[in-house]
Amino acid sequence: MHLAPTSAQAVDDADAHPFVKTVHEYAERVLRPDALRTDRDGVSAARIDELRDLGLLNHLAPAEYGGRGLDPAADRRIHEIVAGACFNTWLVWAQHVPLTGRLACSAEPGRPVSDLARRVLTGEVLLGAGISDVRSYPHRYIEATRTDGGWILDGTISWVSGWGLNAALTVAAVEKTTGTVVTALVEIGDGVRQGAALGLAAVTGSRTERVILDRVAVPDEHVISRRSLAETRFDDLAIASDARAHHFGLAATVLRELDETPDPLVKAVAATWAPRVARIRETAYALADEAAASGGGRHRLDERLATKVASGEALAAITRALVVARAGRALTGADTAQLHARSALFVLVQGQSADTRHAQLTALTR
Ligand SMILES: Cc1cc2nc3c(=O)[nH]c(=O)nc-3n(C[C@H](O)[C@H](O)[C@H](O)COP(=O)(O)OP(=O)(O)OC[C@H]3O[C@@H](n4cnc5c(N)ncnc54)[C@H](O)[C@@H]3O)c2cc1C
Repeated sequence: MHLAPTSAQAVDDADAHPFVKTVHEYAERVLRPDALRTDRDGVSAARIDELRDLGLLNHLAPAEYGGRGLDPAADRRIHEIVAGACFNTWLVWAQHVPLTGRLACSAEPGRPVSDLARRVLTGEVLLGAGISDVRSYPHRYIEATRTDGGWILDGTISWVSGWGLNAALTVAAVEKTTGTVVTALVEIGDGVRQGAALGLAAVTGSRTERVILDRVAVPDEHVISRRSLAETRFDDLAIASDARAHHFGLAATVLRELDETPDPLVKAVAATWAPRVARIRETAYALADEAAASGGGRHRLDERLATKVASGEALAAITRALVVARAGRALTGADTAQLHARSALFVLVQGQSADTRHAQLTALTR
């Protein structure tokens, strides 16, 4: 396999960026020491205020919205840092951030965006996301129906992280008759309510809930895109098929905790796995960037899926090693070993598409 290692190098180089340095300092001082409590009690509104004050709710937005227009390598590094320090905070924040980038790209120069989109771009509003049910169409999805000047969205969103902190959601719904996927901003108000409790076993502090949309009216100005199902599935390959920055942020934290253990055998586990994880990271970033540059879709899909499987297996192995190393303490709520092991379980199912499910299970038959 021929790949230039420049993608991972650019992410490492982003450590010199002043904003990345500020985020790193905050993550070590505030997020990491509080990660067990956050998993137990949930990401707080005060935590979101801190992220807003740091500029982390709109760092991808252009300067006219008070953002920094940060480049993709620095953004990747920030995802590693936040996920490595507190995976629950990362999950809530990560539902919001990519949309600020997408809204900024879709805004037409000189044409005002809607008031809600502006409040997202300035970081005033934290978005949640309800987009994953499109993967299960036609078995389970949100239905979109055209009305005068807008859409009616109806159905149950299976997973919304950040519930109670979000003022609006990005929802992807399907118009059955035309097979159109309508992605729109939905304000949390009348007709939007929490469904049955989920009782999560992982990312328990992420405030993830089932959310019911009861025939909610959405004006055209809140529609972000209208795409065919085929185009949406093509775009989803880029989201679901690659090992991404949060995998490597979590891995770095687990390797660090293994290495900080006095037992030389545990240190040896860290020394064995660190170069393996570094190789997977280098390959994952290079493949994802190459796929994006060549228009996305199924570009080198088998290699990308194999890399995602390898990343999940590496996380499973190193978090298991930390549990073994910490012995009985690993299974009390006060030990980070159980927190990281459960976060690694979540990584195995997050963004799961039919392709990633198939690749993971096939690898386990070998
Ligand atoms: C804690 C948590 C928080 C989350 N937060 C969010 C969020 O904030 N926003 C958001 O949009 N999403 C969120 N998700 C969704 C997450 O990305 C989904 O887990 C992922 O898309 C898989 O969906 P699913 O678990 O509902 O599985 P399913 O939709 O049941 O299955 C996933 C894929 O596998 C295929 N499949 C399932 N069963 C079979 C089978 N027997 N044979 C062949 N193929 C099969 C399906 O067709 C589908 O493509 C969250 C999930 C979790 C667990």
